[in-house]
Amino acid sequence: MNNKVQVVVIGGGATGTGILRDLALRGIDCLLVEQNDLATGTSGRFHGLLHSGARYVVKDLHSAEECIQENKILKQIAPDCIEDTGGMFIATKNDDPGYIDKWLAGCAQAGIETKEISPTELLKEEPALTPDVVKAYFVPDAAVDGFTLAAANVLSAQKLGAMARNYTKVIGFKLEKNKVCGVYLKDKYTGKEELVECQYVINAGGAWAGQIAGLAGQNINVNPDKGVLVIFNHRITNRVLNHLRPPGDGDIFVPHGSVTVFGTTSKVTNNPDDTEATLEEVLELLAEGSNLIPDLKNMRLIRAFAGVRPLYQPDGGQLGREATRDFTLIDHSQLTGLEGLVSVVGGKLTTYRLMAKAAVDFVAEKLGVDKPCITHQEMIYAPVPKNGAKPGEYLCQCEMVSKKMLDQSIEGKGHFSLSDVRRLTRLGMGPCQGTFCTFRATGYYHQSRNLKVTEANKLLKDHIEERWKGSKPVLWGQQAQETQLTRGIYLGLLNLERLESDNNEL
Ligand SMILES: Cc1cc2nc3c(=O)[nH]c(=O)nc-3n(C[C@H](O)[C@H](O)[C@H](O)COP(=O)(O)OP(=O)(O)OC[C@H]3O[C@@H](n4cnc5c(N)ncnc54)[C@H](O)[C@@H]3O)c2cc1C
Repeated sequence: MNNKVQVVVIGGGATGTGILRDLALRGIDCLLVEQNDLATGTSGRFHGLLHSGARYVVKDLHSAEECIQENKILKQIAPDCIEDTGGMFIATKNDDPGYIDKWLAGCAQAGIETKEISPTELLKEEPALTPDVVKAYFVPDAAVDGFTLAAANVLSAQKLGAMARNYTKVIGFKLEKNKVCGVYLKDKYTGKEELVECQYVINAGGAWAGQIAGLAGQNINVNPDKGVLVIFNHRITNRVLNHLRPPGDGDIFVPHGSVTVFGTTSKVTNNPDDTEATLEEVLELLAEGSNLIPDLKNMRLIRAFAGVRPLYQPDGGQLGREATRDFTLIDHSQLTGLEGLVSVVGGKLTTYRLMAKAAVDFVAEKLGVDKPCITHQEMIYAPVPKNGAKPGEYLCQCEMVSKKMLDQSIEGKGHFSLSDVRRLTRLGMGPCQGTFCTFRATGYYHQSRNLKVTEANKLLKDHIEERWKGSKPVLWGQQAQETQLTRGIYLGLLNLERLESDNNEL
């Protein structure tokens, strides 16, 4: 690899990958490094809602305006990553009617189109909803796939010559005369360390941005804020469902592929890796969600997980739901005099392109590059498009993943795990949570990639263990039965615990 580039981008979430693409489109030589796989931080642990902005119109108008602008752009440039489900806001008889007028005024001010529908008409289209709906409005919300979005950004940048390395962690900065002039990297597979020199570093580390800046002796006030989400095994509503009240816990349902993502909560944490959901958190969410979907507690849950918001408050101001969802560009030369480093923090996945533009406008000017941003005009495409296969050719029947898709998802990769494959194809994300597709995909790769037995066993073990983590907090009813079946197959038939496997830890 070339050990000298103009710009190094740290973080392979929506923001970092958006930055890489913007840099590449302006002809700037760049490298992105991500400590795990793409979108394994918050961009893969979020609600999956492409906000219309309607959620923020009352308290955070600026953020709402940014959301609606980006919502329109992303629907145009990234159709592979978005399902334009539409969204609805509903108020029930227990909600404050005074809030509705403020909300409508805010939507009008932000330029977010709303269309009222009578509760009777809505219930015909969305029968799972509570009969207590008193007011309902359609808004232009949509569902967005963070994994595909990050990968599509990187693919588009790579076609223009940009480089991206996953499983590569930044472990330090090279500083000379109060200027950043390189980063020290460690490859997580091989353990190899190296230096890459550069003129500028962009820190897009999300909830980890504070830790990363700390490696350069910088102190920035990123407040990680944990949110828990649960997944149901089917689409409960056709559209994104929002509770029409001030933003709170358990008030959004997002239909995603074959499932529904419901959440979320907001709790300050000091650890960006705090991503486990507890049984208590899940039960609290279900109690809240039952106000909108009365039958919720009888529906089958397949997993629970958490993500960590990268909220930023320069003076240690408001936390949690009170904190702004705006983003901030931190020029470290203004903060402490350190040249060559800029951090971009806060924001939302919906506004990632705008965050990238702001960061790249800043760095391009420093580098003397005057090409304007064109990311709002150029299309991006999924590296693994859904491709039709005949029934019987699917290795994952819940999510219709074919052998061809398995091949495409590992193209050009030396090392890979089934979780990497899952992020690009949805393998194992459906109702069976990998029970049937894990051994089929392992067998397929074992043969087609000529893997050693111990390598194939590692693929199998890692994926089952990873899927198990998310099922633990929701083990009752039908999901408990499914888990018994999974245990029977993997522990009873395949003797998983005693299979000899490679043990390179990631
Ligand atoms: C529960 C929850 C629900 C949300 N729902 C929505 C929603 O529906 N819609 C929406 O628009 N927004 C939503 N958000 C906000 C949104 O998900 C985040 O703002 C966005 O994903 C942040 O993206 P990012 O690229 O800045 O950070 P991340 O995606 O976290 O990327 C940062 C990356 O940096 C990497 N990294 C860290 N340290 C290092 C290192 N030393 N070296 C190399 N790499 C490193 C991490 O591994 C990580 O992948 C939600 C957030 C949460 C927590």
